[in-house]
Amino acid sequence: MRNVKVLCTLGPATDGKVKKLIAMGMNGARINMSHGTHAENAARIREVRAASKDVFIVVDTLGPKIRLGDFEDRRIRRGEEVVITTASKHARSADEIPIQYNKFHRFIKKGNTILIEDGLIGLAVKKVIGPRIYCRVLYGDLLHKRKGVNIPYVRFPFPYTTAKDKINIAFALQHKADFIADSFVRNRANVRALRRIMGTSPCKIIAKIENFEGVKNIDEIINEADGIMIARGDLGVELPIEEIPKLQKEIIQKCNQAGKPVITATQMLESMITNHRPTRAEASDVFNAVVDGSDCVMLSGETSIGNYPIEAVKVMQTIADAAEEKVMPATILENMEDPVSLISKAVSDVINCKRIKAIVIPTLSGVTAAMIARYRIKKHLYVLTPNETLKRQLSLFWGVEAFTTKQLNRGDIADASLRVAVQLGLLKPGDIVVVTAGVGHNMQHTNMMQLRKI
Ligand code: PEP
Repeated sequence: MRNVKVLCTLGPATDGKVKKLIAMGMNGARINMSHGTHAENAARIREVRAASKDVFIVVDTLGPKIRLGDFEDRRIRRGEEVVITTASKHARSADEIPIQYNKFHRFIKKGNTILIEDGLIGLAVKKVIGPRIYCRVLYGDLLHKRKGVNIPYVRFPFPYTTAKDKINIAFALQHKADFIADSFVRNRANVRALRRIMGTSPCKIIAKIENFEGVKNIDEIINEADGIMIARGDLGVELPIEEIPKLQKEIIQKCNQAGKPVITATQMLESMITNHRPTRAEASDVFNAVVDGSDCVMLSGETSIGNYPIEAVKVMQTIADAAEEKVMPATILENMEDPVSLISKAVSDVINCKRIKAIVIPTLSGVTAAMIARYRIKKHLYVLTPNETLKRQLSLFWGVEAFTTKQLNRGDIADASLRVAVQLGLLKPGDIVVVTAGVGHNMQHTNMMQLRKI
C-alpha cells in the first residue's frame, strides 16, 4: 500500500477511463469548475462513483480569478503595443483585448506587469486612459481568449465568493463532493464565509494557497480550513518563482504540525501532457514533494487534457512509491496539555516496536486519525468509521487506509473494532496492534490507547 495519495484532475482525456486511473493508483478525483459544463462535470462525478466508493471527490471553484474576455486568438510580438480594455463590445475596436472584470482599469497603473496564461505572456503597463490599459509586450507570442490574468501584488477588492462560485458550490453539494477546493483564499474569513454557505453539509474545505495574501495569512488559514492545496500554478505567477520551493516546504511543514492534509499541485509532470515520459526535473519534483511531507500529490492537465493520462498516473505513483523510502518519521512539536496530542505522541512512540503490525482507529470525527497520520508512521493505519463520506475524506491523509463499518458499541470499542478488522481481512490471529479511540460519552476526544494481540 502506498502512503502518499494521488489526486487526478478529470477532463475530456479521462472520460471513460476512470477505472483504469484507479487501477493505476488514483485515490482522488478533482473536478475543476473552470473547465467543462455542469453536465460534463456531473457525468465525471457519476463515472467516479460508479467505479468506486473509496475515491474522494474534490470540486475546485473558480474563485475571484480575472480572465480575458472573448476575442479572436491573436499573435503578438515582443515590443508591440496591445490595449486591454474594459470598454463594452460596442465601444472598443476590433484589435483591443477585452477583460472580464469591468473595474479592472481602476486598479492598474503605469509600471504594473500583467501576466497572462500562468505567466506565459508578460505585458508592461505604460499608461491607463479611461477604460484602456496601454501595454508593451515583454514576452509571449500567442494571446488566447479567456485565459487567466495575474497582476502580482495588486489587490482587487471584489467580493470573495463570486456569483459563479455560489452556483458551483451548490453543484458540489448537490453531487455530494467530499471536498470543495476553495480558490484564492486570502484569509480565515474567506474560509468561514464558504463554510456558512455550505451550511450543515459534511463536505470539507481545502483552501488553495495561490497568492501573496494567502501566504501571508497561512497560519490562520491552516487553522480554519480542513486541508491545504499548494496551488503552484497561480502562486508561481503571483510571487517570484524562486520563492515557490521554499514556500512549498514551509507550508507542508506547518500543515504536518497542525494535522491538516496538504496537497502539492500543478505542473508536477507537465511534459507528460504531450510526452510519454516525464523529464528528470519533474521526477525529482514529485519525489521531493513526497519527501517534504505532502499527504497528496496532484495531476492537472497531465490527466484532464493530456495525451497520456493513464501513463501519468502510473509514473506519479511509481515515483511516489520510490520516494516513500526517504520519508522520515516526523518530529511533531506537541501541545502536551491536549489529550489527543498526548495519545498520538504515545502511539507514535509505541509503534516503533517492530512486532506491532498496525494501528486501528475507530472514529466518528477523524481527529485521532489526522493527529496520528502526522507522524508518518510506516505501519498500517486502519481507520474504521460508520460514515461513508468521512471514510473518503480521511483517505486524503498520508498512510490512512479507511473502511466503513457499522456503528461500533462505545462500551467495548477496542474489541469491536478489532473484530471488524479481522472480518475485513486486515488482521489475523497473532497480530499485535495498537488500538486508539475516544471512549465514554464523547468519542471525539481521544482518551484510550491499548496494545492488543489478536
Ligand atoms: C493552481 O493554480 O496551481 C491550481 C491548482 O489552480 P487552477 O488549476 O484552478 O488554476
